[in-house]
Amino acid sequence: MTVNMTKTVFDHAMEQFDTAARLMNLNQNQIAMVKEPRRATEVNLPVQMDNGTIKLFKAFRVQHSIIRGPAKGGIRYHPGVTLDEVKALAFWMTYKCAVVDVPFGGGKGGIIVDPSELSISELERLSRRYFAELSDLFGPDRDVPAPDVNTNPMIMGWMMDTFSMHEKKYLPAVITGKPIEIGGSQGRTQATALGVIYTIRQAAQHLKIDLTKSRSAVQGFGNVGSFSAFFLHHDGSKVVGIADVHGSYLNPEGLDIPAAMRYSGANNGLKGFEKTSPCTHNPDANAVLTVECDILVPAALEEVITPEIAQRISAKIIAEGANGPTTAEADNILAERGVFMIPDILCNSGGVTVSYLEWVQNRMGYYWSDERVIEDLKRFMTKAFNDVLGMSLTHKVNMRVAAFMLGIQRVTRAAEIRGLYA
Ligand code: NAD
Repeated sequence: MTVNMTKTVFDHAMEQFDTAARLMNLNQNQIAMVKEPRRATEVNLPVQMDNGTIKLFKAFRVQHSIIRGPAKGGIRYHPGVTLDEVKALAFWMTYKCAVVDVPFGGGKGGIIVDPSELSISELERLSRRYFAELSDLFGPDRDVPAPDVNTNPMIMGWMMDTFSMHEKKYLPAVITGKPIEIGGSQGRTQATALGVIYTIRQAAQHLKIDLTKSRSAVQGFGNVGSFSAFFLHHDGSKVVGIADVHGSYLNPEGLDIPAAMRYSGANNGLKGFEKTSPCTHNPDANAVLTVECDILVPAALEEVITPEIAQRISAKIIAEGANGPTTAEADNILAERGVFMIPDILCNSGGVTVSYLEWVQNRMGYYWSDERVIEDLKRFMTKAFNDVLGMSLTHKVNMRVAAFMLGIQRVTRAAEIRGLYA
């Protein structure tokens, strides 16, 4: 097999589209309406540093689709951000929102920056400048961002304030993932991991795997990974491996996940955990991916499951907490090996689902209890899983292809009903 190393992450996303579109016999008009991003904006943001100098930061916002509702998707701060990556992430958001059936299109934003190198006031000036510079794009009915890698509720609060000041009215629905005090939703923190565990429960039921007799492993111990490990542990699965940027922590007898969460919270990561709890430490953070287990949750970075790793994975279920953790070639290998994949656009859609519930509450000005939010989240996730599984069984395709087919069907249908304003 030859691997084309020049393919980008957006090429990979377009191939995922093409595979599903071929099986659906989409015609050229349908493809023209739903495949490519509608708008990609690139700006250079001048920001005053604390020492008085002015530095330019390149930033992006991509609106892939506004057919089913306002564009929706997070803003990433990372030195490695590229327009190509933001386009891929915006594309995935369109189909993620369609699969879980929340009335949004897809978008994504990014700034090329290492936020750990900025002071808090520089971070605030950069965040406000980004939102002010692109304020024509944003709005509760236009484009509704959210947090992503290295952005958080505090930053969402600054952005909401900037927009509200420009518009001269309180507009919390312009952005989600805000602090509770200014219109954030109950349940948002654990939402993505709860969605992950709901889809794992459904998959286990389908495959007749008893979670209380299962073993599991989780890569990434941040928001998605740590709560996913916690919920697996809570459901009786023996979590035999966890990992973060400092390496893998393994114990075939099962790890003490509540202790790992306390340790990671207190020490800014798992470094040194093996000295406090029975487990071995392997400095290779990818070692966790190939441990003996039934359920594997990659919840860290993109493209960690390579063809070489895919051959050695023992898990029967992979639940993609992260966006794009499996390379295209590895995906084919896993499909051939019969591994049951819960694809990212289904598996991690709990985050955008609770973002939707936050947006609804902001627009009503009426706020729900934690229980109410979690109940709705469970309903959305369970239905989405069953819809994708149904598509997979009917068309005899794997779960990833089925998820894209379902998402594309919903977006294409909406485009046809709306028609083309000329
Ligand atoms: P986070 O920043 O809270 O946690 C990331 C974790 O990954 C940390 O534990 C970090 O140590 C670990 N990590 C970093 N580099 C690593 C490496 N080389 N090897 C192993 N581990 C490494 O981020 P998060 O919010 O948990 O997001 C994780 C993934 O989930 C991302 O792909 C993100 O796009 C996706 N996601 C997040 C949400 C959400 O609501 N937070 C929603 C949907 C998808």
